[in-house]
Amino acid sequence: MTDTPLEAQSSRQPSLDYVLPFRLDGHNIHGRVVQLSDLATQVLTRHDYPEAVNRLLGEALVLVSMLGTMLKFDGRFILQLHGKGAISTLMVDYAPHAEGVGEMRGFAQFDEAAVHEALKQDTSPMGLLGEGSHMAFTVDQGADMERYQGIVPLEGETLAEAALEYFQRSEQIGTSLKLAAAPLLLAGGKVEWRAGGIVVQQTAATGGIDLPPEGDPDYVDEEWNRLKILLETTQDSELLDADIEPQTLAFRLFHEEGVRVFDTRPLRFACPCSRDRVHNMLRGLPEDDQKEMQTQETIEIHCDFCNEQYVFAPHEAFVTSSQD
Ligand SMILES: [Zn+2]
Repeated sequence: MTDTPLEAQSSRQPSLDYVLPFRLDGHNIHGRVVQLSDLATQVLTRHDYPEAVNRLLGEALVLVSMLGTMLKFDGRFILQLHGKGAISTLMVDYAPHAEGVGEMRGFAQFDEAAVHEALKQDTSPMGLLGEGSHMAFTVDQGADMERYQGIVPLEGETLAEAALEYFQRSEQIGTSLKLAAAPLLLAGGKVEWRAGGIVVQQTAATGGIDLPPEGDPDYVDEEWNRLKILLETTQDSELLDADIEPQTLAFRLFHEEGVRVFDTRPLRFACPCSRDRVHNMLRGLPEDDQKEMQTQETIEIHCDFCNEQYVFAPHEAFVTSSQD
């Protein structure tokens, strides 16, 4: 990664969806600004979800893009919300692609009637998941590698609050973040989505902002508190405005802290499912399952992520096709 002075960042990035990493010089703090427009629209208009579900899924896309681009790995980074309420599952994943583009997708499973009933009671998007829900982060590096998973109770009024709770519990790294997602109504009833966010995080290195002295419960890190308050002043409208470059947003907030921005990390929607992969999966099923499925008129496999439907006739589903 090369350091790029802020002044040099004048031309608009070709990608509509990206993460901008930055550092605050003089502090051990790094951050990210996320802007998603095409990716958010592709994921969220692919399904016919209620707006409140899409808002939560849009924020989850932002959160996963922040975290996924921080990890150095080859594999898939997955966020799952396990709900006990109207929404039962909300899932977003991120996979780095060879060309340096992060590929993302997401879906939600919910009880439509329960969602509408809850929304009548002014339930917040997070409230749709219900009491006793959980949040899980998984790093999946493939079949031969160990899966890392962290699971925490889902706490907070918003997904950003829930994520902060996760950082406090599991990583104990000072973190502050904002997430936003909203539909954009265009002429002719067309809808696009915008999602965005900003995060700052302390790094464990020495110098800059002091780590709390051990055994002092009253220690207050004034510098860190001041930066968190600055971040809190960000408006959703700023995070969602595709005309505000992320560099501008970072500079607007932290110009006095010596903002240094790095190369942006482009993102795009992609789902790796295909008819061949589904076919392979079917042929790998236990024999009993295959026999049972062969009694069906057609075998239909649905990809929750991209909404693609794969239909097989029973006689073709379990045999090796001529192209294989
Ligand atoms: Zn798919």
